[in-house]
Amino acid sequence: MQMDPWSTRTIDYEKLFTDFGIDRIGKLDEILSGNPLFRRGIIFGHRDFYQWWNDFRNGKKVSILTGMMPSGPFHLGHKMVVDQLVFYQNLGIPITLAIADVEARTVRKKTPDEIREITVNYLTNYFALGLDPKKTDVYMQTSRSVPYYRLASLMAGKVTFAEMEAIYGTLSPGKIASALIQAADILHKQLDGYEGKHRILVPVGPDQDPHIRLARDLAERIGLIKPSSTYHIFMKGLDGQKMSSSKPNSYISLDEPIEDALRKVKNALTGGRISLEEQKKLGGEPDKCMIFSLYLYHFELSDEELDNRRRMCESGKLICGDCKKELLDRIEKWLVDIHAKKVKYRPIAEKMVDEMMDYPF
Ligand code: SF4
Repeated sequence: MQMDPWSTRTIDYEKLFTDFGIDRIGKLDEILSGNPLFRRGIIFGHRDFYQWWNDFRNGKKVSILTGMMPSGPFHLGHKMVVDQLVFYQNLGIPITLAIADVEARTVRKKTPDEIREITVNYLTNYFALGLDPKKTDVYMQTSRSVPYYRLASLMAGKVTFAEMEAIYGTLSPGKIASALIQAADILHKQLDGYEGKHRILVPVGPDQDPHIRLARDLAERIGLIKPSSTYHIFMKGLDGQKMSSSKPNSYISLDEPIEDALRKVKNALTGGRISLEEQKKLGGEPDKCMIFSLYLYHFELSDEELDNRRRMCESGKLICGDCKKELLDRIEKWLVDIHAKKVKYRPIAEKMVDEMMDYPF
């Protein structure tokens, strides 16, 4: 399996453990088991997560670093990262949010106007989903600080081209610049001018693991603590295939008109049988059902209710039409609330971005 953070690919989750050295999430204490993402195995793997968590539980300084790539529409797949950030922020853990505009410009070829609009929109969504703008250290990679750029530049001397190729596959100048600056994102908070040495957690999707591996190698070589990471499962698209920004019918966006989002849910793949009679006889297949996935990942927080839905589905007592209708009601209510919050937070996000953006060309 080729792992690089820039191409689309199918993730073989088992290989992450056997070939890439990611560990399985193990025992959950009372705080972690209160979070459905951990409890349901959606956050499934980690590197040194428990060292980071133990430091937090023992009152030591810890923090979170997360990155945001301004490209494409904001959809439910992105929400999974924000849900994690909100969980940690509510525990009082400092959050730093890096906007990966170097990669957006050099690798994804976005224009400054596109980057401004997408970043404003992403930040607006992050805040509408519960991240507190006052408690989040947000920065763009092109407008951070001298020590941060010094770190990114000098780390180029601590890794060889062959090592980077082994981690990332085919490279270009833009990819090298972007990878080193992402390593600086992950590590710079340990510099003396920032928080000093401490454990940092980076919650990511598994496709971002190459950045974690590079940052961990570099941390060791420059005397910093290796960053920790967790990995969450990618939710499938509404059609049962990979969720992709290039296939608008595969995702629910928080930016699209509510009626469009609801229409997509109505057309989503279910695990229902070809006839009502057969469904009553054989029961449905929730593990093949995107409606069930939406409940599982986002719209049913009670495990008891979720188990009950599974039982009712498998026994044929629950009909897909009713099951969908209930979900549509929940999604509609939720989107109305999110859209109202976005109106409130957009000016805050615009001000933040306009203060940060300053491109020489
Ligand atoms: S009853 Fe609900 S969970 Fe079961 S297959 Fe139909 S839509 Fe999916």
